[in-house]
Amino acid sequence: MIVFDLECSGGVHRFEGWFKSSEDFALQQDRGLVACPRCGSAEVGKAPMAPRLARKGNQDVVTRPSTAPAASDQPQALAAPSLPPGAIAAMHALAAMQAEAIKDSRWVGDKFAAESRAMHYGDADQATIHGQATREEAQDLLEEGIMVVPLLIPVAPPDEIN
Ligand SMILES: [Zn+2]
Repeated sequence: MIVFDLECSGGVHRFEGWFKSSEDFALQQDRGLVACPRCGSAEVGKAPMAPRLARKGNQDVVTRPSTAPAASDQPQALAAPSLPPGAIAAMHALAAMQAEAIKDSRWVGDKFAAESRAMHYGDADQATIHGQATREEAQDLLEEGIMVVPLLIPVAPPDEIN
């Protein structure tokens, strides 16, 4: 996925558009399928680059502390690359999707495996639940044909939030 800053004719409204690729954007634009969400205008084009995109990456200066152990031959990775804006937006979207998915879900903590099994075998009413399970427990559930999905973003147990 790729995110573009778009604007409708004359730059009246600015908005973000998500596309599979820039070719996909060009195709949709050609067909007039890209419309401004505010006024519905199909005369949409890419907005001028935001200043943050103009900054070149990997130019951060890193220094090795003088107290560091004697240099080894292995180069050290000292700086984590900063996430591109699109990735950050995607993570926000992901977090929102997950929040929506577990909105009606019941937190069962470390009883997740037991609760899932009970529902699968008809010993408990079907419900959406989320909780904690070890890797082995999750593996066992999957082998028994019980659908479990790892949460992409860790959720704090409700009793640990306060
Ligand atoms: Zn508009």
